[in-house]
Amino acid sequence: MDIMSDNKIKKIVIAGGGTAGWMTAAALSKVLGCTNYDVHLVESEEIGTIGVGEATIPHIQKFNQILEIDENEFMKKTQATFKLGIEFINWKKIGQSYIHPFGSYGEDINAFPFHQYWLKLKSSGLASSLESYSIATMAARHKKFTRPLNINGSPLSDFGYAFQFDAGRYAQFLRGYAEARGVVRTEGKISSVELCENSGYIKSLSLVGGAVIEGDFFIDCTGIRALLIEGALKTGFEDWSHWLPCNSAVAAPCEKIEEPIPYTRATAHTAGWQWRIPLQHRTGNGHVYASQYMSDDEATGVLLKNLDGAVIADPRVIRFKTGRRVKFWNKNCVAIGLSSGFLEPLESTSIHLIQTAISKLINLFPSRRFMEDGAELYNKNTVFEYERIRDFLILHYKATERTDSDFWNYCRSMEIPEYLREKIKLYVSTGRIYRENEELFSTPSWLAVFEGQGIQAEEYHPAVDSMPLAELAERFKAYEQVINKCIDFMPTHTRYIADNCKAE
Ligand SMILES: Cc1cc2nc3c(=O)[nH]c(=O)nc-3n(C[C@H](O)[C@H](O)[C@H](O)COP(=O)(O)OP(=O)(O)OC[C@H]3O[C@@H](n4cnc5c(N)ncnc54)[C@H](O)[C@@H]3O)c2cc1C
Repeated sequence: MDIMSDNKIKKIVIAGGGTAGWMTAAALSKVLGCTNYDVHLVESEEIGTIGVGEATIPHIQKFNQILEIDENEFMKKTQATFKLGIEFINWKKIGQSYIHPFGSYGEDINAFPFHQYWLKLKSSGLASSLESYSIATMAARHKKFTRPLNINGSPLSDFGYAFQFDAGRYAQFLRGYAEARGVVRTEGKISSVELCENSGYIKSLSLVGGAVIEGDFFIDCTGIRALLIEGALKTGFEDWSHWLPCNSAVAAPCEKIEEPIPYTRATAHTAGWQWRIPLQHRTGNGHVYASQYMSDDEATGVLLKNLDGAVIADPRVIRFKTGRRVKFWNKNCVAIGLSSGFLEPLESTSIHLIQTAISKLINLFPSRRFMEDGAELYNKNTVFEYERIRDFLILHYKATERTDSDFWNYCRSMEIPEYLREKIKLYVSTGRIYRENEELFSTPSWLAVFEGQGIQAEEYHPAVDSMPLAELAERFKAYEQVINKCIDFMPTHTRYIADNCKAE
């Protein structure tokens, strides 16, 4: 036997079958293949899954492409709708709304970002609102949708889209995919996790009833319980709740009363915010709140009062703690999904973090001999991803003018991480937005939230002055007209779904 095959990991055990477990199983079965590896997944129907996590960001398209999933088929099976962004209502102040869209604003001019020119035009009183220059925002506001078209130079080719889907059906869909490719599923409740005495590595999982599942490499997808990474390996947790104080959610779906809109809504209340995620067959809702400022009963009352259709399941309270595992990969175990940490769902980033975790794991996939060599790199990159998303989320709470509750007073006046402080300072003083390495949210995202939450630039880039104001105004007007024409051309979101991916 050669060194390679001798040291090769043979059996991978995934503990947990929620979104994280089945996304991991599906990707491993496709990319690594179940003829080279034995991939086992154990889950407990009695424990069930968290069952929320219905809104995504555009990067999920890449996951579907790697798995060669037919997008229309996947949408039919998961009752999915398209998503062009998130509307934030009452965040800056009560009665105000803005959209954080998927896609850019306008087009760069002379290699300078569009928003620098917009800042100049705005300071002269000649600019329309920022959202008039975003095709994704305008389409969302008009309930229109088409997948981007391949037309050079047209705004119709310059936006992204994601999906809103039924989380339970998504896990089922991926389960079918993974099992068809050889993943072996065991139904059972893990009662204990056995470690090797010498190395401290995980050796096996024992199930209620006595069955034992041994493995070489373990992936902890047991959700908030974190049975392997924390329960057995005592890895530790870094708590970020002083920056993101919401620690609870009450969720309840309701009947749909109107055709689904192509975006998610996040409406701020006095101690948190409420999501509204329209699917083909129902609407998902939840109220995320800080329990130190609002009781569960009050939070449930606020949720029920703000549903737009009849509630169709009992409201369910979920507790969470915002923060991250000290190590995401520890010994022969990687935590993926809620077991790795949690950033509250305000920008729908958790499923994305599952996806990037899988991709990093596949790239750094170990052998028995080099089990922890990739771990350091994996952990370093994941900390970076988590912290940059965290800072973007904090911005939504910090940049508020609301003074109507203790919760908002706390958020407005709290200390924030240095990176975020510097990013805000740079924008205010120069209009510039600096994106570090591959941080998830790019310039248009920061711009949308800065402007939407009332953080305004005092200056713009001096190079912008090389273009005469009248010419600039003309260009902006023309661009706005092109966007309006594109919106006229687009079908409604409802029509597009009916023609392409209507669930049976
Ligand atoms: C309020 C809220 C809203 C959210 N909204 C979004 C969103 O809009 N978009 C987004 O991207 N993400 C969202 N998320 C995050 C998203 O729900 C999760 O990232 C995603 O569902 C992954 O969950 P999971 O698979 O890690 O855990 P779970 O779904 O909890 O799955 C855990 C699995 O482990 C199994 N398990 C646990 N213990 C045992 C045991 N002892 N024995 C055997 N099996 C066991 C369970 O049976 C289950 O199969 C939200 C999260 C919360 C809390």
